[in-house]
Amino acid sequence: MKNFEALREAAAEISDLYAAMALLEWDQQTFMPHNSSADRSEQIGTLAKIIHEKSSSKTFGKLIEKASKEAADLPPDSFEACLCRRLRREFGKTSRIPATLAAKIAGTAAKAHHAWAEAREKSDFSIFQPYLAQLIDLRRRYAGYFQPSGNIYDPLLDNFEEGCTVAKIDPIFRALREKQRALLRKIAACGQVDDAFLHAEYDTGKQLAFVNEVITRMGYDFTRGRQDMSEHPFTTSFGLNDVRITTKVFEKLPVSCLLSSVHECGHALYELGIDKKLNRTPLAEGASFAFHESQSRLWENLVARSHDFWVFFYPHFQALFPEQLASVSAEAFYRAVNKVEPSLIRTEADEATYNLHIMLRYEMEKDMLNGGIEVADIPETWNRKSFEYLGIEPENDAQGVLQDIHWSMGEFGYFPTYALGNLIAAQIWTRAERELPALGESIRSGDFAPLLDFLRKNLHVYGARFTPAETLRLSTGCNRIDPDCFMGILEKKYAAIYGFRAE
Ligand SMILES: [Zn+2]
Repeated sequence: MKNFEALREAAAEISDLYAAMALLEWDQQTFMPHNSSADRSEQIGTLAKIIHEKSSSKTFGKLIEKASKEAADLPPDSFEACLCRRLRREFGKTSRIPATLAAKIAGTAAKAHHAWAEAREKSDFSIFQPYLAQLIDLRRRYAGYFQPSGNIYDPLLDNFEEGCTVAKIDPIFRALREKQRALLRKIAACGQVDDAFLHAEYDTGKQLAFVNEVITRMGYDFTRGRQDMSEHPFTTSFGLNDVRITTKVFEKLPVSCLLSSVHECGHALYELGIDKKLNRTPLAEGASFAFHESQSRLWENLVARSHDFWVFFYPHFQALFPEQLASVSAEAFYRAVNKVEPSLIRTEADEATYNLHIMLRYEMEKDMLNGGIEVADIPETWNRKSFEYLGIEPENDAQGVLQDIHWSMGEFGYFPTYALGNLIAAQIWTRAERELPALGESIRSGDFAPLLDFLRKNLHVYGARFTPAETLRLSTGCNRIDPDCFMGILEKKYAAIYGFRAE
């Protein structure tokens, strides 16, 4: 296994460089002084260049081939075979793309990002339009190197979710869309829940103290991580023993910080639970974007927005804020936290409408890549679809087509993983409920150890050893992503909150 050991060492070096780059980026988002950004961009750029050179070199490619031969007789689920498979896939994808095209995409995305920020600030799509047109064109060229594929969008989907295709997503989203809209109609026919008390002022220091209590109970290990503040909350990892999260706190949105921290903590618990043997390899991460999001969403929606969760935590929260909540019951608070109301901004959407925001973006990306839509018509199409999906229409581009960062970075194919993550979370949760009959009881007593232990054993430990399809089988026991599982949970929950009859 001489070649395999050499490969492992080379992969470890690349992984260290990624960790160093992530640390620079973490600092940039948290503590870096405002005027240091130009130098920092250079430093990150230099590391990115070294990583690219190392991971796309001919020598590295040959080493992968030789090591794969050595590992050929080992069981396919062995560490060696899994690492070779992963590196072969990544190398195979990178080496298909000419360096000039990769550089052109990166350069255009950097310019597009600035244009997008300005366009959003001025709420004027026309500033971003030429750059978006270029990025779509470049991504079409990129996808051209992976032909034949069923759909030109497929190679881009595969970048975020291995094996994901239009042919697989279309039927899932079609079923989901109708059922989600039917659920929204039922909810709209009922009286709206009262959440007026959530719009009072809540001391941010106390909010953070509460958040700390929650994530500590969830099992977040502060000796291998930390939580800081940043403009956009995120999770980052510098190896399996240092996984950090950030949050943002608002005086007038008392549960926003909590849900955002719980979300990021869900991502972090996933990485912290990965088998340490995988450290310093590309297997030391989540199985895919959708699986990563399944973990953040599971904790955010199925735990922190649940009735059981508030049975335990509401008395603590109420005691911190007696002025605002003295006369508010746990029941009323739970309903308010779960108020459903179609809104324009994806990141603020509730559990019942979130996927509709994703499906709108998915349909648009599919059309954009397939040439079914003129770039100039994108804002209008967005607004029309927004009305069709959510029943509301943005008043300007900032609230509509310009709200997300993803397209400005040339990233098409990312959005669907958010919705797939929600669906996978529901399937993992359903299995956890089946195998842990006392799950609800343990959450009602503030004990999350049984749930975390279940997630670690059935998902976290594997890291990225297996394909998303295999990981789905291992973690849920199912062979396919099932929208009905997700919808069943939503129906039951909102029937109880809004008082309609569940199907
Ligand atoms: Zn997330």
